[in-house]
Amino acid sequence: MLVRNIQEIRGSANRMSALQSVSGKSHAAGPESHDVVVVGAGFAGMYMLHRLRGIGASVRVYEQGGDVGGTWYWNRYPGARCDVESMQYSYSFSDELQQEWNWSERYAPQPEILKYANHVADRFNLRPDIQLGTRVDRASFDESANTWSVTTSDGKTVTAKYVVLATGCLSNARTPDIKGLADFGGKVYHTGHWPHEPVDFSGLRVGVIGTGSSAIQSVPVIAEQASHLTVFQRTANFSIPARNAALTAKERQSWKADYAEIRRKARETRNGIVQEMPDRGALDDGDNERRARYESRWARGGVTFMGAYNNLVLDRAANDTAADFVREKIAEIVNDPKTAKLLQPNNHPIGSKRICVDSDYFVTFNRPNVTLVDIKSSPIEEILPNTVRTGAGDYEVDALVLATGFDAMTGSVAKIDISGRNGQTMNQKWAEGPRTYLGLMSAGFPNLFIITGPGSPSVLSNMIVSIEQHVDWITDCIAYMRGRDLGTMEANRQAEDGWVAHVNEVAHGTLYPQANSWYMGANIPGKPRIFMPYIGGVGTYRQICDDVAAKGYEGFTMTSRRARAATKRSASASSL
Ligand code: NAP
Repeated sequence: MLVRNIQEIRGSANRMSALQSVSGKSHAAGPESHDVVVVGAGFAGMYMLHRLRGIGASVRVYEQGGDVGGTWYWNRYPGARCDVESMQYSYSFSDELQQEWNWSERYAPQPEILKYANHVADRFNLRPDIQLGTRVDRASFDESANTWSVTTSDGKTVTAKYVVLATGCLSNARTPDIKGLADFGGKVYHTGHWPHEPVDFSGLRVGVIGTGSSAIQSVPVIAEQASHLTVFQRTANFSIPARNAALTAKERQSWKADYAEIRRKARETRNGIVQEMPDRGALDDGDNERRARYESRWARGGVTFMGAYNNLVLDRAANDTAADFVREKIAEIVNDPKTAKLLQPNNHPIGSKRICVDSDYFVTFNRPNVTLVDIKSSPIEEILPNTVRTGAGDYEVDALVLATGFDAMTGSVAKIDISGRNGQTMNQKWAEGPRTYLGLMSAGFPNLFIITGPGSPSVLSNMIVSIEQHVDWITDCIAYMRGRDLGTMEANRQAEDGWVAHVNEVAHGTLYPQANSWYMGANIPGKPRIFMPYIGGVGTYRQICDDVAAKGYEGFTMTSRRARAATKRSASASSL
């Protein structure tokens, strides 16, 4: 019934918008105006534009990068590739698209994913509505008109009824505050902001600071080029071999033949990735069975290692068995026992930080031109023009790679000066940590949606599955409002408080908060320690969002366009 209603509404919205769009794109005397401004043209922004066009909305997308692709536009460091298999890390909304596109490898390299993003932009003719090289600096809500004023880096201001933040979860690269960094004599690169021209490290002594996913992917590749590579490690990380390989035509075909079912299943899973689901906990098996299971996951490779048992992120004793297994593997691979010990993570449960996936990371430390430096026991004191000075000694380098991560989940929202009702800014409201209802909206900021925002599964999932779910939900919601001539939609504080408490409660039932991870904001000095993504699972979360919509957007307040009077549709999140 709901589906039919939404289709009917879409139909009438299309007709309505066709009329509005003719006259509504710009007013002769006022600023340019759109139904929706979308910030960002990565996978989220592009699909948002496509869906909104489908309901006849006029849309302007602003993208600060020089082209589409978001994270895959910026993260061009050597060895960058996806850590979710490409047959799954791809759009599902168009069967033609998924049938015609051929991924070359199990985990596509960054240039291929960027090519795919560009193919999507062209195939769906998205470019005319995307303004590249343009940052959104400010968005302020005008309570008298119920519209947003959006100011961009080219000095223009446009108005829009809705703003959708498709700004990405890991797009605000973080440069650490290290004494002397600005005076370093060689080139300094950040993995999250890599140059577009080729970087040649041949003959150079290179220093990599950081040992998260970006470093773990780039270190083996840089080591092959550099005359010497010094890796500065503060915290060792768990990493599973990717077992990347070329995809054969037969393999691709077997995925494609079953795509409808695979995509359906992915939407119902815990993390948006279809995999063999465990039916038991790690302690339910004896030592030999457990070892065999870990060996088989290790041999298969990839993030699904953590799915070997159903309690690895819930029970510390169970988790220890998996962590011990990986530590043993590191000791087997790395020849020098001292280096092996340093590379063995020992201060967080496996999986409580995003598990890394590598191609030859640990074995790289057997190369004679690679040195691992422990900066936990002897931190970096300063950087001199050609030296990294730690408490234990000096390391000469000609180039530096900062693989130091991102101000995750909130960083790219915080860079925009967003002010909502009563002039309250988003940064003021989120000073003690992000507050959202369903990760989709924040109370006090009407008609402002966030795709894969804090409080949604986002980074704990296959991002494209979560992006598509949010975009579809937001599109249906905007169609619903248009069909009823509603003016504003806003999360209720009570619903938001309930959701924030729920997100917290679920997180604290797991081992995740035990790590100093970027999920917790722990990598940014001074950032509040709050577990930001929703751990309840992609399938469960989808059901919650669908139920909220089916109950007339329970927990949100919608006002009519004409009266602009508050019409409480519903106000309680008590059912959560
Ligand atoms: P990250 O996981 O946050 O790792 C940053 C590294 O830099 C950590 O080892 C950190 O040490 C170190 N670091 C930060 N500040 C430092 C400082 N001042 N001095 C010394 N060391 C410092 O960042 P990332 O590797 O870029 O990965 C972030 C996320 O992006 C990943 O978790 C993943 O979700 C995503 N990603 C995905 C892929 C993929 O799909 N293949 C690839 C790359 C990244 P501490 O741990 O001690 O703070």
